Amino acid sequence: MFHAWPEVRLVDTDTAEGRPAQDARSVAVARRLERISPAYRAGYSRAADGSASPRAAIKSFCLECVCYIRKEITACTAVACPLWLYRPYQDAAEDEAGE
Ligand code: SF4
Repeated sequence: MFHAWPEVRLVDTDTAEGRPAQDARSVAVARRLERISPAYRAGYSRAADGSASPRAAIKSFCLECVCYIRKEITACTAVACPLWLYRPYQDAAEDEAGE
C-alpha cells in the first residue's frame, strides 16, 4: 500500500509569527551555511540558490552527508541510497586530486 508523505511546510522556528516560506528558507540556508567549512560554502550556496549543476548539488549533499570527509564518500556503503551511483569521488584518485 502506498502512503503519501505528509505535507511539509517551511517555518521559521525562532518566531511565533509565520513568515513567508521563502524568507524562512533564506534564514535556514544562512544558518546552515554558517556551520559549513569555508572550503565548501561556495558549493553549498550554489546548490541552495539553484545555480549549481545537478552533479554539483549531489556533491554538496554527499559532502554534507559524510561531514565533509571526502574519503567517506568514496567508501560509502549505503548502496540503497538513491544518490549512490551518482556520488562524487567514487574513484579514490578523483578524491586525491581534489576534484
Ligand atoms: S551516496 Fe552515500 S555519501 Fe552520498 S548521500 Fe548517499 S549515503 Fe550519503
